[in-house]
Amino acid sequence: MLGIWLLEFLNNMLFDPYHRKINYLRISVTDRCNLRCRYCMPEEGLQLIPHEEILTYEEILRVVRVFAKEGISKIRLTGGEPLIRKGISEFISQLARIEGIRDLSLTTNGTLLKDFAGSLKKSGLNRINISLDTLNREKFSLITRRNGYEKVWQGIEEAMKVSLSPIKINMVAIKGLNDEEIESFALLTLHHPLMVRYIEYMPSGNGEEWKEGNILTIPEIKSRLEDVGKLTAIPSDEWDGPARRFRFEGAIGEIGLIGPVSDHFCDHCNRLRLTPDGKIRTCLFSDDEIDVRGFLRNGGSDEDLKKQLLVALKTKPERHHINTHQFKKCQRNMSAIGG
Ligand code: SAM
Ligand code: SF4
Repeated sequence: MLGIWLLEFLNNMLFDPYHRKINYLRISVTDRCNLRCRYCMPEEGLQLIPHEEILTYEEILRVVRVFAKEGISKIRLTGGEPLIRKGISEFISQLARIEGIRDLSLTTNGTLLKDFAGSLKKSGLNRINISLDTLNREKFSLITRRNGYEKVWQGIEEAMKVSLSPIKINMVAIKGLNDEEIESFALLTLHHPLMVRYIEYMPSGNGEEWKEGNILTIPEIKSRLEDVGKLTAIPSDEWDGPARRFRFEGAIGEIGLIGPVSDHFCDHCNRLRLTPDGKIRTCLFSDDEIDVRGFLRNGGSDEDLKKQLLVALKTKPERHHINTHQFKKCQRNMSAIGG
């Protein structure tokens, strides 16, 4: 009896050749965005995916239903900017009803969040990540090449009001651009229930020229935070994501440190990505893609989709090669992969 149960249990788990359990799918629902962050998109001339090539919500739901049966239990929606895609809240409520999906989250630039927070919460979204790289309105316009700083803050406040939790604020720290704000972001955690996460700047497709010299490494950031106050590590029994978590004494919120470049966490990687045009990517930094759209649109069966998932699993690289001579900057823009 126990043997059958164990077999069924293991049947519902996906492992790659490096014995990593894969249970997390990040879905980029659009490559479009209402901002033009310098590190992510060019100001002009971005090649957009033609509308007819973008997966419909029905197609994505079918992929998730098939993958959930195999062991995918966590979904994050991202983009581009996911909140600009029409019908996103209804789509989320359909995702939330898929058997096996236990965790649903979303990454947004926050500009439209004030209007969406309530309906996202009702749709079954558990938690949210909001990207914000500066606490200065003019700097916001410089970094994103658009206005909207106040709107993002209204969005954050609304997310707190409707109790989306946790609310994580993602800050990409770049030397010479926003590095003087490391400390001000940290102070937000003292009185707000926010997790401020510092993310190392990564080489990606079309953002403004990526220079290694512009990276502010996590050890550098940590050392600056230690000058703000005593940081205590928050212990965790098991792998709960790439952020190393800390708290300042007496703070309501938390600090998260994410160092994909200086301290790669590939050994623990549990992710696959689905691009807006229906390709599975096995690593943020590899251009190898496994098609699912062709199967969805040419009469492929659920078994075919499952096979594509297994191909993806088998070809997931052991690690990325940033900082080594093997590294090649990937061709797709971060906004068309889903960062
Ligand atoms: N538009 C949404 C947003 O900004 O949150 C979702 C998509 S965006 C591509 C997802 C995340 O990727 C954001 O937190 C953004 O800051 C991050 N990102 C984009 N380009 C990056 C880069 N070159 N290095 C590090 N993070 C990057
Ligand atoms: Fe848009 Fe997000 Fe990229 Fe900024 S980081 S341009 S908000 S997709």
